[in-house]
Amino acid sequence: MISRRGLLVQVAAMAVMPKAMAEPGRLSFGGSHEQGGLMVGRGEPGIRVTADGQTLQVSPQGLFAFGLAYDAEKPVLVAAQFADGHSETRDILPTPRHYDIQAITGLPEKYVEPPPEVAERMARERALITDARKRESAGTDFAAPLEWPCAGRLSGVYGSQRILNGKPMAPHLAVDVAAPEGTSIHAAADGIVAITDDFYLEGGFTLLDHGHGVSTCYLHQSKRLVAAGDAVRRGDIIGQIGHTGRATGPHTHWGLNWFQMKLDPSRATRTSIPPLG
Ligand SMILES: [Zn+2]
Repeated sequence: MISRRGLLVQVAAMAVMPKAMAEPGRLSFGGSHEQGGLMVGRGEPGIRVTADGQTLQVSPQGLFAFGLAYDAEKPVLVAAQFADGHSETRDILPTPRHYDIQAITGLPEKYVEPPPEVAERMARERALITDARKRESAGTDFAAPLEWPCAGRLSGVYGSQRILNGKPMAPHLAVDVAAPEGTSIHAAADGIVAITDDFYLEGGFTLLDHGHGVSTCYLHQSKRLVAAGDAVRRGDIIGQIGHTGRATGPHTHWGLNWFQMKLDPSRATRTSIPPLG
């Protein structure tokens, strides 16, 4: 039921709408509006854009990107200033999602409760990844839908609360694709190899930079077939499926990031599940 106060607010909102509607927007948005979605905005050359007050990098064509956090409940306010002095604001309301609970047992205990002697190594590796994800390069490879890195079975979805060997852990902010050991892993989009290395939790790890703070990562690889600084094209083979690091079986944990925000790559692909292997 709408309260009298609520009704008044609605009427007031409608009263200001005709003005807003009379001017067709010069901003458009692609990507996923869901929690965990990567939003791709399109404006015009020369615009300046902020999202919740944070200045966004804008390409010469007017492209920009930002993420909707997995638990975002409030609208993101996008404000654009055009070269001709016109300005436009949009509220991007993240569509709420329901996340599952996933219990995984049989993980070697050293990965669930890492021993103190690896704490320093883990901290160093985490810092390398955090630093690489601060980069804001000029590419706009994030603007096209992503390709799944390999065919296989979706064995882990985004956002699920993880219970590892009975211990509640942070939500799983990536997707897992299970495929036989040695299956080729392909770059999800054009980009530059920011990191490729063997890490404790992540195992064989590669991070690709797609520009404007957007990156994808590929974990648990048995073989890494690229070098840091390499330019890769969408579909290029960058490694092979394995179960190195914290993994119970051969799969890749595939992540999509906007800076430090972990997004859902399955919402940035054309299909929500990978092709069958
Ligand atoms: Zn995973």
